[in-house]
Amino acid sequence: MTRLLAILLIWISSAALLAQGPADVAKAESAITLEDYKAHLLTISSDEFGGREPSTPGEEKTVTYLRDQFAALGLKPGNGDSWFQDVPLVAITTTPEKRMEVQGVARGFSMPFGTHWVAASRRLEPEVRIENSELVFAGYGAVAPEYDWNDFEGLDLKGKTVLVLVNDPGFATQDSTLFTGNAMTYYGRWTYKFEEAARQGAAGVLVIHETEAAGYPWGVIGGDRISANYYLEAKDGNKSRCALEGWISEEAARNLMAYAGVDYDAQKEAAARPGYRAQPLGVTYSMTLKNEIHRSTSRNVLALLPGSDLKDEYIIFSAHWDHFGIREDLEGDNIFNGARDNGTGTAALLSMARAFSSLPNGTRRSILFMPVTAEEQGLLGSAYYASHPVYPTNQTVAVINMDAMNIFGPMKDITIVGKGLSELDEYVLAAAKEQGRYVRPDPEPQKGVFYRSDHFSFAKQGIPALYARMGVDHVEKGEAWTRRISAKWTIENYHKVNDEYDPAMWDLRGTIDDIRLLFRIGFRLAQSDAFPNWYPGNEFRARRDADMARKSGE
Ligand SMILES: [Zn+2]
Repeated sequence: MTRLLAILLIWISSAALLAQGPADVAKAESAITLEDYKAHLLTISSDEFGGREPSTPGEEKTVTYLRDQFAALGLKPGNGDSWFQDVPLVAITTTPEKRMEVQGVARGFSMPFGTHWVAASRRLEPEVRIENSELVFAGYGAVAPEYDWNDFEGLDLKGKTVLVLVNDPGFATQDSTLFTGNAMTYYGRWTYKFEEAARQGAAGVLVIHETEAAGYPWGVIGGDRISANYYLEAKDGNKSRCALEGWISEEAARNLMAYAGVDYDAQKEAAARPGYRAQPLGVTYSMTLKNEIHRSTSRNVLALLPGSDLKDEYIIFSAHWDHFGIREDLEGDNIFNGARDNGTGTAALLSMARAFSSLPNGTRRSILFMPVTAEEQGLLGSAYYASHPVYPTNQTVAVINMDAMNIFGPMKDITIVGKGLSELDEYVLAAAKEQGRYVRPDPEPQKGVFYRSDHFSFAKQGIPALYARMGVDHVEKGEAWTRRISAKWTIENYHKVNDEYDPAMWDLRGTIDDIRLLFRIGFRLAQSDAFPNWYPGNEFRARRDADMARKSGE
């Protein structure tokens, strides 16, 4: 018996055991149609929806449409009596001083804002002041118990500012025995470094920008343009965050450390070796940051399809509904329709809900469909849900996220972004085999794409999260063609006003394949009583294990 046949037999027999015949499953899957999907996609990404910016009339249209569609499919409000979860957002425009004056050795050292460093403050205070903060070079700024690594060991960082390298020691050395080698771990993300520095009680954190390690040039973050950043508002007014969070250019960091009499390259090399001790630079700076603060409220949509005997366990399908709205200062077309990003994923939630609600005997576990807000501002809607979960995290089996789906036609393959992280991989392998497709790992794991969409907010709380994205091996046109057209799309359309449905170019056959594949995974999870976990050694596993142990009362 071939392996494929064996998997198919296991699949069919398990489906039959659970009182849902394969015919029922196939019928439910066939409710995911191109016509239905395309109609939702065109509506959501129409000019009328105004680019779906949070807290605008575009939001009202979008969340109302989603609620009405879910209700028409017979789903239930997912947050008590409500279809929505309010997400409090705060927009902060930070204006730092024009120069950072560093004191301590000889004449002092001055660095202009924009070209040498950038910074903001999340604290909800009109003026944030840092006084005589000592600068400390702290390697990669990581506390990673699974790798027996602590860059802050024995340090008291109260009132100090840490300089930390971007990415992680595995990437820096390309040593597969350090962290996960070339593939980025969460410890490599700048978002982690900001969080960890705050946990350590530091007053400030500056991530040292290096183009290769960051994956983008200084121009992406540098420059003296002051604009608003969106954040969630914590009860403490974000006082638990560092007063100053920012970046420093590699050149500026090198010069600053030379001024302090410390060799940048030697420190950097040492920092990638186990047992590195952080290096206080013996120099200080002071800085005042002025904050302009605007509060608003946005909404996650929560639609529930209750299960049967395991209805208190949940599978979440997520996709961000938001995009960039309308830019009044642009001439001509100024609506960011976000048809692919993320009209495709949002419409897929409706197709998915249609399939699940057409199962004659429903599912054992409950399915929660969750279009989330403010992804484009930093995964804020999903982060809010994950830290204010309506359903207990240890009763949430898995999250399957969809963001900017395949629009280029049928593919022989499917990509798991973050392949090798959790047992959910095995569900993808089985479902892909059933479609006669194969699974491809993340082509650029060093870029940390896994940490950049909504599923990651759930992963941080320990919930196993799957981010499967388009394949590249086009059934008719091959791989080179897909890579070419996909790269072209990224340059010409990604995050631009012309991320619009283009009937001449878009081919949604492959999108439907992918939605059906994810439906099969969700169905399988919903009929099982298994809780797939992160693989051993993964950075999210300890949190999940602790959370699950709380449930079983250990
Ligand atoms: Zn997106």
